Amino acid sequence: MPGDQRTLRVCALYPDLMNIYADRGNMLLLERRCQWRGIGFALTAASIGDEVDPDAHDLFYLGGGQDRDQQLCAEDLYEVKRAPLHAAAARGAVVLGICGGIQLLGDHYELGTERVPGIGLVDLVTRRAIDGSRLIGNVAIEVELPGLDGPRVLAGFENHGGRTHLGAAERPLGRVLKGHGNDGRSGFEGVRRDNVIGTYLHGPLLPKNAWFADYLLATALGIDPASLPPLDDTLEDAAHASARRAAGV
Ligand code: GLN
Repeated sequence: MPGDQRTLRVCALYPDLMNIYADRGNMLLLERRCQWRGIGFALTAASIGDEVDPDAHDLFYLGGGQDRDQQLCAEDLYEVKRAPLHAAAARGAVVLGICGGIQLLGDHYELGTERVPGIGLVDLVTRRAIDGSRLIGNVAIEVELPGLDGPRVLAGFENHGGRTHLGAAERPLGRVLKGHGNDGRSGFEGVRRDNVIGTYLHGPLLPKNAWFADYLLATALGIDPASLPPLDDTLEDAAHASARRAAGV
């Protein structure tokens, strides 16, 4: 587990390329919620060619990207960062992949005749719809996470051309209440294997779901989410309620 429980060490993967839809805002929210509680926050960027130390970070973040940007990152992610990310996940670090990120956490992403490699942290494949249609809109899912007292709602926005299919033994992050989810049919959204989490919800995930940011930061620090000092979440609760309303939940 992390060396210093009072500093959340985050590694943003390809923040220059995989950053559509408010990924910087997600980092900012984590930083502020740490700061307000007297927890340190250290952010490191790792882009193409940069080595990653699996023990130096508590949370690895892989944001959303256009197909073009994803293709640019995929080879480097596979060649340079796959082994350290597997090592980090094995010791319990949080790995969070959003949208293009979830697609690259799986086995591969098929774009017509091209196959973009993923790093196989979870068992899933993604295929671009043959007709090029996209799954777009507000979305809400119900999730159950270890250490939380019951099901919670994550609300956000999805916009993806890929259809993601989970392997038989793999579990989704949540159940779709409103929206399309992984493939528009299964009722599954995202993926979660221990602390490796993928989701299509972005725009911006954490500011709309501050409870989830707290879950992630506590899990990354190896502490019980219930032990985090509460914050004045008046604005965050309003953002969450608004995102739920937009999704119709
Ligand atoms: N390029 C991927 C797709 O369209 C992911 C898009 C995104 O990150 N918004 O399926």
